[in-house]
Amino acid sequence: MLFKKTIAVCLLAAGIAAAQSGKSAGQKTKSASSAATQAAAQPAEAKPVARPKSFDPAAMDTSVNPCEDFYQYACGSWRKNNPIPSDQSRWGRFNELAEYNRQILHEILEKNSADDPKRSPVAQKVGDFYQSCMDEKTIDAKGSAPLKPELDRIAGISSKDQLIDDLSHLHAIGVNVLFNFGAQPDLHNASTIIANVGQGGLSLPDRDYYLKPDPKSQETRQKYLAHVTNMFKLLGDDDAAAGQEAQAVMDIETQLAEAAFERVKMRDPKNRDHKMPVDKLAELAPNFQFKKFFAGTGAPGFGEVNVVPPDFFQKANGAIDSAPLAAWKSYLRWHVLNGAASLLSKPFVEENFSFYSKYLNGTKEMLPRWKRCVQMTDFQLGEALGQPYVQQTFGTDGKARMLKLVDALESSLAADIQDLPWMTPETRKQAAVKLKAITNKIGYPDKWKDYGTVTIKRGDLVGNFRQVRGFEVRRTYNKIGKPLDKKEWGMSPPTVNAYYNPSNNDINFPAGILQPPFFDKDADDAVNFGGIGVVIGHELTHGFDDQGSKFDANGNLTNWWTDADRAEFDKRTGCVADEYSGFVAVDDVHLDGKLTLGENTADNGGLRIALMALRKAMAEDAAKKANAGKKDGFTPEQRFFLSFSQIWCQNATPESSRLLAKTDPHSPGQYRVNGTLQNSEDFAKAFGCKAGQKMVSANACRVW
Ligand SMILES: [Zn+2]
Repeated sequence: MLFKKTIAVCLLAAGIAAAQSGKSAGQKTKSASSAATQAAAQPAEAKPVARPKSFDPAAMDTSVNPCEDFYQYACGSWRKNNPIPSDQSRWGRFNELAEYNRQILHEILEKNSADDPKRSPVAQKVGDFYQSCMDEKTIDAKGSAPLKPELDRIAGISSKDQLIDDLSHLHAIGVNVLFNFGAQPDLHNASTIIANVGQGGLSLPDRDYYLKPDPKSQETRQKYLAHVTNMFKLLGDDDAAAGQEAQAVMDIETQLAEAAFERVKMRDPKNRDHKMPVDKLAELAPNFQFKKFFAGTGAPGFGEVNVVPPDFFQKANGAIDSAPLAAWKSYLRWHVLNGAASLLSKPFVEENFSFYSKYLNGTKEMLPRWKRCVQMTDFQLGEALGQPYVQQTFGTDGKARMLKLVDALESSLAADIQDLPWMTPETRKQAAVKLKAITNKIGYPDKWKDYGTVTIKRGDLVGNFRQVRGFEVRRTYNKIGKPLDKKEWGMSPPTVNAYYNPSNNDINFPAGILQPPFFDKDADDAVNFGGIGVVIGHELTHGFDDQGSKFDANGNLTNWWTDADRAEFDKRTGCVADEYSGFVAVDDVHLDGKLTLGENTADNGGLRIALMALRKAMAEDAAKKANAGKKDGFTPEQRFFLSFSQIWCQNATPESSRLLAKTDPHSPGQYRVNGTLQNSEDFAKAFGCKAGQKMVSANACRVW
């Protein structure tokens, strides 16, 4: 999430920040706008945010029959009492905790932003980055001037050869135009990092936005065209020129969208597995002049590159020739501007907000400036800001308790694999080997990223942003040809999320999520196994979902399944895909069961093994057994299911529900709860639900 990856890491949930900006949902590149689409007119004082609660009976709506709609039963009062704040597009328990964390980061940054020569290097970097973002007066006075060197460079391009030079230059400073270029573990030798080029270059959240003929998609394209036109006008272009440039951008991006694979197709690792000699890529798509391009980026030399997918480059190759040079210059200009929109003066920030946040996500108001500046500092300098955050919040006992829970969940999954009714011994053995090899990372990195070469200055937001992006790009390029560093993290410590990485074969839990409502040191086992226990189970199950199951214990794309077991797996995941495709996200928009298959498989598996772990913990511990009676009127198992469900209490704007149904591999909260529980016999037993009721599926799906 922090850096570009073409191997999908499986998150627990869509990023909180990503949910606030339609832009980031579709772009792998971390543009400035994903962190800071929103700025407020006035520096609002921060209201104190209380630490969220774990399982809370007051959040329920007990007037609802739990066997008809458990989500509403568990979350009804919370949903009623927690409308979406006007500066958000979606509001749930994740957001509550993220706001709590943001408050801590805010205090750290306010303290470190004073111009004190005695500050440590880390404090100076995060403090002055934050100051440069908060200094709205300087930002407004500069207008778009900080982009002038890049825009002048583009204006000076007079041939397609020079166009390639500028492509290299833009990639090297972190503006990923036309496609993505980075580094990733070799799919067949995960211990080594190789170069990777992938499809990209779009500004709308998904390829379908450019191509679908329905009225909503047509409207979105008209709005996008008007937005791009407005942004060019803010740069000083006249109406006619701005309109022409916007059309050129739309034409080029539409060609790239046509060349790109659909999201669902990209889930299949075989469509991401095309290592070839650089010579072959150069032949495949000669107009890209890849040898010249790679050399121009400053990346170290390499002979082989993974191409994702070759079709994209083959098809897009024609566009380089057919689109006039002037159109390409407009396209580059747009990407430089769009990627930095939220770093510029107020008119740019507001125009950017009105399209990406308001129109695409249904957010009514901009976030207060301090919030977006905290978020941007976390996004850009996460392992610097993470250091004081961890010191302040994460005790050693947190890590020890978490390790115990991970052990418990791993034992449950091991037992689950042994008892799985549909798997033959041969595959079962391999699955156990893979599970045993899964490692975990908890809290924060053993070794922090060294930002020593990054210069951060007060009053220079765009300059600071370029410093960090350039640093991250060089770091990525320098990995090419080197061994994989398994200790590296893909998320900053304060992040409220978790992930499984198939190449590392590891599960990762940043300090930010190890708090209520997920993990509460004062709560009983039922609540914690329903919260963080299911999260751990979810991440472990990702190792065995539609994507993870194709990677072996060492993170290599290797088939360890018998044909019969794979066929049974496909049948069973097909059941899950059909189930979730039946759910409606908003209006006539259904969930895409194939897009969300990995996450739904992980939710179902995670719930099952967390309950197994809870039962085992209660059976083993006599003291706990003594506590196994009702609490708040609920049995331990009922509390387990309620705790799990309340993690997913949320409200969302219809706009964001529409956008996420198209782009987010996670189902919305309602279906993460009801879709999962209706497959669970244990749930039905715990609440006395009978066949024929909505929460009891007539066609219950089970993979793990
Ligand atoms: Zn997940």
